[in-house]
Formats: sequence, C-alpha cells, structure tokens
Amino acid sequence: MILTNPKGTQDFLPSQSAQKHFVETQFRNVVALYGFSEIVTPTFENTELFLRSTGLTTDIVTKQMYTFTDKGNREMALRPEGTPGVVRAVLQYKLKLPVRLFYSGPMFRYEKPQKGRYREFYQLGVESIGEPNPDIDVEIIEMGLRFFNNAGLPEVIARVNSVGCMACRPKHRIELSMFLSDHQSEICDDCKTRSEQNPLRVFDCKEATCQNLYINAPKIMDFLCYDCQQHFQVVLSELAEQKVPFELNKMMVRGLDYYTRTAFEFVLPGGKLSNEALLGAQDSLGGGGRYDNLVEDFGGAKTPAIGFALGVERILMCLEMPKQTRKTIYIIPLDAETWKQGRKLLTALRSTNIPALINPADKNLRTGLGYADNLACEYVIIIGANEMQKNVYTLKNLVKRTQEEIPQDKIIEVLTQKQENTQN
Ligand code: AMP
Repeated sequence: MILTNPKGTQDFLPSQSAQKHFVETQFRNVVALYGFSEIVTPTFENTELFLRSTGLTTDIVTKQMYTFTDKGNREMALRPEGTPGVVRAVLQYKLKLPVRLFYSGPMFRYEKPQKGRYREFYQLGVESIGEPNPDIDVEIIEMGLRFFNNAGLPEVIARVNSVGCMACRPKHRIELSMFLSDHQSEICDDCKTRSEQNPLRVFDCKEATCQNLYINAPKIMDFLCYDCQQHFQVVLSELAEQKVPFELNKMMVRGLDYYTRTAFEFVLPGGKLSNEALLGAQDSLGGGGRYDNLVEDFGGAKTPAIGFALGVERILMCLEMPKQTRKTIYIIPLDAETWKQGRKLLTALRSTNIPALINPADKNLRTGLGYADNLACEYVIIIGANEMQKNVYTLKNLVKRTQEEIPQDKIIEVLTQKQENTQN
C-alpha cells in the first residue's frame, strides 16, 4: 500500500512550491520597504508560552494545540501561531525597541480539515513591537494591502474593528453576558461555554443562527474608553484620508485573546472568496491587531505592539497564476556523436550560471521533448548530425512553439540575453 500524507497536511509539489515561493518573495519585498527584518523561531515551544498568550479560552488552545511530553518530561507544543515565539525571543534576547520583525513558516492546529483550513499551514507574519501611535496601525494595514496588491490580489480590503482594552471590557462584558443569558436557549453549546468563560469570543462563532442573533448583541466598539476611542478615531480617519480600502465591522473579534484596540482582517469583499474558492467562514486571508499587554504579560515592561499573520495556502487558492516555466535549458542530442557535444555544452552553460539538463543518451527526440515539457522548460536545444555539419544548434521555444538556428559560438550569448529578458 502506498503511504499518504497525514490528514490536514499538504504536499507542495514543484509547481505549487514555485507559486508559494512567489508569494513569499512578494511578501519579503514589501515588508523590507517598511523596515522589517526576519526572525526565525522554533516550530515547537514550551506549551506554557501559548497558554499565557494565545489564551486559555480560545479554540486554538483548548481544542487545537498539538502538544506532547518530550523525553525529558517537558510539556511542548507545536506552535499554533507565530506571535508568542517572537515576543518571547524579543524579551529573551533583550532586543532594542522599537523593533520590526517578520517571519515565515509552518503553524499547526488540530482543526477539522476542509478547503482553506489545514492542520499544518504556512503563515507570513509581521510584528512591530514598541510603537504606540495609531498611525502605525494604519501603516501596518496599508502594508498588508500593498502586499496583496503586489501579489496579484488588488481587490483585498481590510475589515477593521476596535476590541478596546482592559478598561473598556468589564462594562461591555456585563452587558453582553446579560444579552447572552436572555438568549441562552437560542445559542449553540459552544457559545454557552463561551458566554461563561469569555463572552467576547461568541462573536467568533461560525453557526449562522448565533451569527444572526449577535447582530443585535452589545458590541465592544460602543463601550470604548476615552483613550481607545481617540486611538480608533485616528485610525479610521487616517485610513480614509490615505484612501486605504477598508470596512468597519463591529462584529469582528479575532480568535486570539491578547488583542487590544485595533483588530483587523484581510478579506476579499462581497463574500467572493467564500463563494468561489473557500467554504463558509474561511474568507479571511490574514488578520492581526494591536496587543499592547502581551509583552507585559510575558514579564517585560509595558510595551505597545501590533502585528498580523497571512495564510499562504488561502492566498494561493485565490491567485490565478499562469503555468510557470523554468529557465532550465533542456539539451537533446540525437546520437552518440552529438551526445559528446551536448555534454560539453551542458558544462559550458552551467559554468555561465545558466541552469541546464541533458536528455538521457538512450532516449529519442520525442521522449526528450516530453521530458522537457514535464519539467516546464521553456527552451530546448536540439543537436543532430545536421546541426553539427552546419555548426549550429536548433533552439526551440516550447511555449511559443518557434525554433531558430543559432551559431554554436553564439549560443551562450543568445541564451544569456533571453534569460535577462525574462527576468525583466
Ligand atoms: P490567525 O493566526 O488565526 O489570526 O489566522 C491568520 C490567517 O492564517 C488566517 O486569516 C488564515 O488565512 C490563516 N489560517 C489560520 N488558520 C488556518 C488553517 N487552519 N489553515 C489554513 N490557513 C489558516
């Protein structure tokens, strides 16, 4: 029996890997423009790190964490998200603040797998630690949208809300709890638990009946303290002033406990994503927000911070990318004599940094063209007796279906030129 990958995981085969690489490159290019540097943290951490940050009442921690006891009897967890590890590292190595960091890598959540929702998935994320002002929130949201634009998804908008702070939440919590107890018979079992443990979480519920009911529930936005109100007003007016495409959504709370003030998601508007590419609630391509208490909760000084994480698989599902061709030149010698010439050319190409492969000696032209097509090579060089006699190579473009004869001593020059053209 052939073994398969574990449920909820994905293999990125070469063509998909190329697309993933494209998305990551766009991300790296954009965040570099805003002064972010890369940080790499472990894929597993002490479980306690996530209990103290992501939150004891979140689905991620209560239901979805991959935990294990290691051989030294330590409680470990595969990271379900990137922020806690980054904040830990900032404090552990006493990085000078403010600091702007980005990361890229796999995250793990034991979820019910479905389209756009996996147990191992890749995130691209940023964290700005030590910057308090609301214009930073706008800069971060605008940067996210710039990435989507550059990656080929200019329609993406930001959905924004303010989830307030420790000062505004108690009053809202009382009102919301009252609303929920008045409607106990109408809400799902999960929401019954949420209403006891952390009522704000009910807005995360994916059940349609609950969602409809919560349209009339008290919203945190209407309970903001003076400082949170001022902060959010600046965010909204600057977003509008800078013509950043966004919509205010009072129902949006993020699935993590540590967010304060500005919270946001990146979505394709009009439910386009949920209808066409993804199912139901998986319409968010990324999300984030302020987390002004987390550094302090980890034992650091009071430090404002903000970040977001983007889901690579979901972005790839929305991108319509043309079949990528490879720059590898595929050399097809037609007999034993030309094979020697082919080997020489192979070495010469690689020495000039042109990627190249040669068709196996016992395979014919047809098989060779088939291989080249499989490898998505744009160019093939054919060397037969005819070419040897005329001192040329036949250069075939498999995409445009054209071919030309190139003098043997000009081939490197011609190929270098073509490679430069495709780069531009
Ligand atoms: P979160 O870390 O929950 O704020 O999620 C940020 C982004 O990561 C989401 O908007 C999704 O694009 C992506 N994401 C979260 N969970 C999953 C998952 N289980 N599978 C695939 N992508 C995910």
